[in-house]
Amino acid sequence: MQYKSKIRRDGEIPYIVKYRNIKYPRLEFRTGELVLVLPHNGHNPEEIIKKHRKWIEGKLKFISDHIGRSSKLKLKQRSVEELRSAVSEFVEEHAEMLCVNVNRIYIRKMKSKWASCSVRKNITINSLMRYLPDSLIRYIVYHEMAHIIERKHTRRFWRAIEREYKNYSEYEKDLFFYWFRLNRLPR
Ligand SMILES: [Zn+2]
Repeated sequence: MQYKSKIRRDGEIPYIVKYRNIKYPRLEFRTGELVLVLPHNGHNPEEIIKKHRKWIEGKLKFISDHIGRSSKLKLKQRSVEELRSAVSEFVEEHAEMLCVNVNRIYIRKMKSKWASCSVRKNITINSLMRYLPDSLIRYIVYHEMAHIIERKHTRRFWRAIEREYKNYSEYEKDLFFYWFRLNRLPR
């Protein structure tokens, strides 16, 4: 994967065009690259770019800022088994603090989140967490276990988080950059 989505010096915005069975043109940034998805009935790509230039420039700036910060993040190299034992330790530690019990821990690839917690008190861990520093694994485990007390991200939920993580928004932000690093940039 290459990340050359910056606006070129001559002011041109690089993009690729894909044709799909859709009604209206669409602009996508899935991999950090501008993709113009067009319906089969003739649209002029240049005109679409021109019309949405401000929006595209904003997106490109956002992406390049994130690539910059994310690419500097160091990745831990753990096996899945090592991840499992780290998670188990934190589960044990937090169980006392939160007065909750976890039923089972599953580890698998997840597409859209770091972890989840079911009503049956099973915690599913994204296997990509093996690249995270201990402090973030600990936070995610705490976060998921707090969901046993409160399912949704309510005020009550964040109060439970604050008991251990006063600065939880910093952790959430770090996780966002790691997500970008692990899902958008080559590992
Ligand atoms: Zn949550």
